Amino acid sequence: MRRLRVCVQVCPTGIDIRNGLQYECIGCAACIDGCDQIMDKMGYPRGLIRYTTENVVKGKYPDSGIIKHILRPRTIIYTALLTVIAAAFVTALLPGCRYASTWCVTARRCPKKRTKA
Ligand code: SF4
Repeated sequence: MRRLRVCVQVCPTGIDIRNGLQYECIGCAACIDGCDQIMDKMGYPRGLIRYTTENVVKGKYPDSGIIKHILRPRTIIYTALLTVIAAAFVTALLPGCRYASTWCVTARRCPKKRTKA
């Protein structure tokens, strides 16, 4: 099969994505569009260049298994924990929060507690 160079011609950074992922890539997807257009014209399946994971390329699981692989119990638990921590932090920073005035960086800068007038 003849090697086509459309992906290289349309790349704004001038890299050859056929050599694998490279740090110069800005993720503009111009190579994906160019490759898909050529594959459509030639009657080949799309997706020769696509967003995917290293494990899919190595054949560990199919493209359709990416979401299932991401939604594992560990990632769900970590996401829930981070959400709770972030919500607690934002809530503590809200004006009027009774805990916000007791926080200080150093003891010298800690403001004195307000007394009710
Ligand atoms: S995504 Fe854009 S920058 Fe990256 S290889 Fe493709 S055309 Fe080049």
